Amino acid sequence: MEDLWERSLKLIKERIKSQNYKVWFEPVSFVSAKDEVLTLKVPNKFFKHWLTDNYVSIIKDILSELTSVNYNVNFLVSNKKEKKHKVSAYAKDYLKSKVNLNPKYTFENFVVGHCNGIAHAHSMAVAKSPGGNNNPLFIYGGVGLGKTHLLNAIGHKTLNTQSTLNVHYLNSEEFMNELIYSIRYDKMNNFRNKYRNSCDILLVDDIQFIGGKERTQDEFFHIFNYLYDSRRQIVVTSDNFPKSIPQLKDRLKSRFESGLIAYIKPPEMETKIAILKKKAELDEIDLPDEVAIFIASKIKSNIRELEGCLLNLAALSSINNSPITIDLAQEILQNFLQYKKEKPNIEQIQKVVAKHFNIKLSDLISNKKMRVVAFPRQIAMYICRNLTDYSFPEIGSKFGGKDHSTVIYAVKKIESKIKEDSPLKNDINSLTKNLSP
Ligand code: ADP
Ligand code: MG
Repeated sequence: MEDLWERSLKLIKERIKSQNYKVWFEPVSFVSAKDEVLTLKVPNKFFKHWLTDNYVSIIKDILSELTSVNYNVNFLVSNKKEKKHKVSAYAKDYLKSKVNLNPKYTFENFVVGHCNGIAHAHSMAVAKSPGGNNNPLFIYGGVGLGKTHLLNAIGHKTLNTQSTLNVHYLNSEEFMNELIYSIRYDKMNNFRNKYRNSCDILLVDDIQFIGGKERTQDEFFHIFNYLYDSRRQIVVTSDNFPKSIPQLKDRLKSRFESGLIAYIKPPEMETKIAILKKKAELDEIDLPDEVAIFIASKIKSNIRELEGCLLNLAALSSINNSPITIDLAQEILQNFLQYKKEKPNIEQIQKVVAKHFNIKLSDLISNKKMRVVAFPRQIAMYICRNLTDYSFPEIGSKFGGKDHSTVIYAVKKIESKIKEDSPLKNDINSLTKNLSP
């Protein structure tokens, strides 16, 4: 099985920058791969956090390409200096949560500001009286702004105060996979009963991924109605307002719009600084105020990036055994921002590819199968995969709700075509050049 990890590493190496591979993958060692869980050993907590937030989707994608099994990835921290009582508290917290909630994502760890005040207040209200008047709650906002964090926090708080409640937390892809499994193995009754009879609170993350998935939407709709009618709580998150989710059926849109809706805005300066300080405190990082202000002024909106920058800083200062200073922050940020700048977003890639092939943007993200649009679409998916950090499902969702397997197929196809067709290779190279500043 170690061989599986070796083979995965080869592919990871091809897909990420060599500098990132060196920093984040060379220190990782294989522990085991069994029962669909890959366990890896990492040198410290920073690695665990950073890999979890940034590379798990790549690792999972690669494992499923290699084995067709959907592995989960688990990290063991091998830092001997780690304080004993802390580790066990962490483990205890994890065990206490009967569901797969992230133990870090609690209300206590959530910094409230203007940008997220309403979403936070609604989430607290739901956690205090689930199934009350705040049903359903729909939280939406951009990437890395705290939606998943709040959803987990609701789960933790309800379990802490009413431990007998059944909390189901999952993202919409997991819901879909479970449904597919149930259909295939003739277990639809179990599937429905699980949600209808033993679910008091249903927390579904990233609901936008069910756009375009007819059957999943139908099942979700029935479960939603059943839970709603029996006054049980539903909370969903999305990257967009219900109306703007591509290929979401009207009846689901109107259900989502019938309850409370909270928008999380990009954070203002004060909130960014407060979040940095909170993270530093939690991870025991010695972060001077002036460095916090400096980082917050450079990173525009994404809180995950803010956190990533802090973790990079902490990792570098612990490797170098030097304190965190503005100079060090500048160095990290330079790499970080440069690295960021190189990455266009999916919409930019779609625009450039559509223009290049002289087709409509709407056709590029449609379901049309004619070669004149299907081929540019595959090229666009391939470029997205290569130039951005989005996962296969995320790319699929931006192409009008395509399945992740469609994206994997497109990427593989273009990869093999490039090998034998050099004009195509030149074409793609020049497109890629146009997209990098
Ligand atoms: P989203 O689901 O909106 O993409 P996440 O909930 O995953 O974003 O948040 C990204 C990271 O930023 C997480 O590590 C989360 O803990 C952190 N984060 C986001 N908002 C806050 C906040 N208000 N306070 C503390 N941490 C936050
Ligand atoms: Mg999220």
